[in-house]
Formats: sequence, structure tokens, C-alpha cells
Amino acid sequence: MPIIFYIFLFLFGTAIGSFLNVLIDRLPQEESIMGRSRCDSCGHVLGWRDLFPLVSYFFLMGKCRYCNKKVSIQYPLVELATGLLFVFSWVHIQPLGTGLILKKFIILLIVSCFIVIFVSDAKYHLIPDSVQVVLFSLSLFLPFSSEITAGLYLDRIVAAFLVMAPVFFLHMITRGRGMGFGDVKLAFIIGFLLGTLEGLIAIYLAFVLGGLMGIFLILFKLKKLKSRIAFGPFLVAGVLLVLFYKGALVSVMKSMYGL
Ligand SMILES: [Zn+2]
Repeated sequence: MPIIFYIFLFLFGTAIGSFLNVLIDRLPQEESIMGRSRCDSCGHVLGWRDLFPLVSYFFLMGKCRYCNKKVSIQYPLVELATGLLFVFSWVHIQPLGTGLILKKFIILLIVSCFIVIFVSDAKYHLIPDSVQVVLFSLSLFLPFSSEITAGLYLDRIVAAFLVMAPVFFLHMITRGRGMGFGDVKLAFIIGFLLGTLEGLIAIYLAFVLGGLMGIFLILFKLKKLKSRIAFGPFLVAGVLLVLFYKGALVSVMKSMYGL
């Protein structure tokens, strides 16, 4: 692909990221996703000059044009992350089978869902059900399978339950305080999307990353032992790592555990 394609894809990603910011903040509050964006501080409706992804934030030096209050760094960060992840996913995530270009766009939509889940769970401790429904619908296309058969769907339903099991178990023994039911549903979708082995690797990576983060936060006294850390962002990180580095991860796991 020529470099101009990737520049366009990056800019397209930042524009989608701008829309994802709207979903991130409105879905957990059950607000309508239609309607103009407003300043979080003064409520002034934002004009077209305020809505350029990344550019508006830097041009206004992170402040609202109308009230001069600081604008959350989340907005440019999500826009930047979406732009970069779109380019990175296009290069590194290879779909299989027929309709590859369509599948590439399905993968971008799947990545978008993961970005919304990551940020809304980190910020509000909530994974919107509507995003889970969209993510599951997209995973029905099975973009990483060369051919789709009824048998494969059956396999993936089994995989979904197997991958969900450890998260469901923790949800039960912590009575929902360690893992929310949103995490259980997300693990189910991950199993369906990736299959048993890769799905379990994603969950495993999520536990490792979550554990490391927990130790880090407690060591630096940023959190207390009993305080709750959202698990969704780690699940998302686990899935993205598997999608980006599938081959390498599978062989490392196989040699580590003699599978
Ligand atoms: Zn304002």
C-alpha cells in the first residue's frame, strides 16, 4: 500500500476516535449518542472549528474556546490511539478466507469496540452492553477463519464457554467485586472471536498484566489492596496482543507449557 493510504487511514482513525469519545462518555450514562457535542465545563455547543480530531485540541492548547477551562486529555489521546491502532491493525492483523478487504474493515470496527470498552471500563467501571452486542455481531463474521461452516460456529460456541469459564469462576468467588459480569460477557465474546487456545492466551495475558499493574499500584501506594481495578482494559490489552503477535505468542506458550 502507498504511504498516502496509511496517512489517510490514520486521519480516518482519528475521526472515528472522535466519535468513539462520544460513545465512551454517553453510553455509560445512557445518554443519546445523537446531538451536538458540548464542552464538559460550560456546556457550550462546540462549533465545527472545535471538532477537528487532534488538531483542535492542540490549536486551542487543550482549553475550551468559550470558557477557557481545560479539556480532558482523553479526547486527543483516544483520537491518536484510534488513528495509530487503525494503521497498526491494517498492517499486522491478517484476516483469512474470502472478502479480505471487507474483513479488514470489520477488524477496524472490532478494534473500535475494544477502544470504547477499554476507556469506558477504566473511566466508569462499566462496559456498555450495546458495545458488547455490536462486538459479538462483528465476531460472527469470523474474520480470522478461512472458511465458515456450521461446525466451526459450534466449535466457537464451545470455545466461548471455555474461555469465559475462568473469568466466570472469579466473578462467582469474588461475588462480582473482582470481576464484573461485563468482564464475563466480554470473555465469552473473546473466546468466540479467537477460538479456545488463542482466547485462553488472551485471558492469561490479561491476568498477568492485571496482576503486574495491581502490584505496581500497591507498591507505589496508588491503590489499596481492597480497591477495585477495572479488568476490562486488561482483557482488551490481552486480545490486542494476541491479534498483533499471534504467531510469536502461540509458540512461546507452547514451549513454556509443553502444549
Ligand atoms: Zn467550555
